[in-house]
Amino acid sequence: MIKQDFAKNLPAAVLAVIFCLICTAGLHAGESEKNHDFPEKRAKMIREQIRGRGIDDPEILAAFEKVERHRFVPERLRKYAYEDRALPIGKGQTISQPYIVALMTRAIEPENTDRVLEIGTGSGYQAAILAELCREVYTIEIVESLGQSARNILSELGCENVHVRIGDGYKGWPDQAPFDAIIVTCAPTEIPGPLKQQLAEGGRMVIPVGESYEQNLVLLEKKQGQLVEKQIIPVAFVPMVNDEGTTY
Ligand code: SAH
Repeated sequence: MIKQDFAKNLPAAVLAVIFCLICTAGLHAGESEKNHDFPEKRAKMIREQIRGRGIDDPEILAAFEKVERHRFVPERLRKYAYEDRALPIGKGQTISQPYIVALMTRAIEPENTDRVLEIGTGSGYQAAILAELCREVYTIEIVESLGQSARNILSELGCENVHVRIGDGYKGWPDQAPFDAIIVTCAPTEIPGPLKQQLAEGGRMVIPVGESYEQNLVLLEKKQGQLVEKQIIPVAFVPMVNDEGTTY
C-alpha cells in the first residue's frame, strides 16, 4: 500500500525536483550575468581606481573598458571583480589589483607593433589587456590548470594574438625572442638572466623583485645593451617558483 502510494506520487515528486533545479539554475544565471551591473562597475573602476590615480592614456583606458574583468574571476567571486583589490583564482594564486595591472601596462609603454612576453599568465586578464594594445602577446604559466583555463577564456573572447605556454617562465621564450616588452607578474628575488637577454634593444621590462610578498616593482630599459633600472612602488606579488615549487 505504502509502496503503491509512493509509486503513484513519484512522477509528481520528480517533476517538483526538476522544477526547483530549473528555478535555482535560473536564479544563478541571473545573478552572475544580470544583477551585478558589470558595465557600471567597470566604468567606476576605471574612473576611480585608474584615471583617479593618474593613468589617463586613452588606449589603455579603452582596453580596460573593453576587457570584462569579471570573466577572469571565479564565478562565486564575480561580484567583487571590479573592486580595488587582488582576488583568488585558485591554486593559491591571484588576479592582480586593477590599478597594478594598469600601472604595469603603462610602464612598458605598449605600441601596437610590439611583441610582448608575460611571465605568470594566471587568470589571463593582464594578457587580454595587452592583447588590445600590442601586436602579439606570449604568456607563460607554470600551473597547468591555470594556463589551460586562461587559454580557454582567451580563445572564447577571441584574443587570437595571445599565445599561452605552460612551463617555467624563468627561462623566457627563447624561440620568440627578442621582445619589445616583458611583464613579469610573479616575483623572483633577482631578475632572471634569460629575461634580460630576451629583451630587445630599446625594450622595457617591468618586474616585481624581492622576498615573498614584499617586493619593489622595477622598470628596466635596455639602452645600448645596458639595463637602466628605476624603482616604481612597493608591491606584493606571489613568488616566481620553479617546477619543484621553490622560489627563484
Ligand atoms: N597576470 C595574472 C596574475 C598572475 S599571479 C593575471 O592577470 O591574472 C602570478 C602567476 O604566476 C601565478 O598564476 C603563478 O602560478 C605564476 N607563476 C609563478 N612562477 C612562475 C614561473 N616560474 N613561470 C610561469 N608562471 C609562474
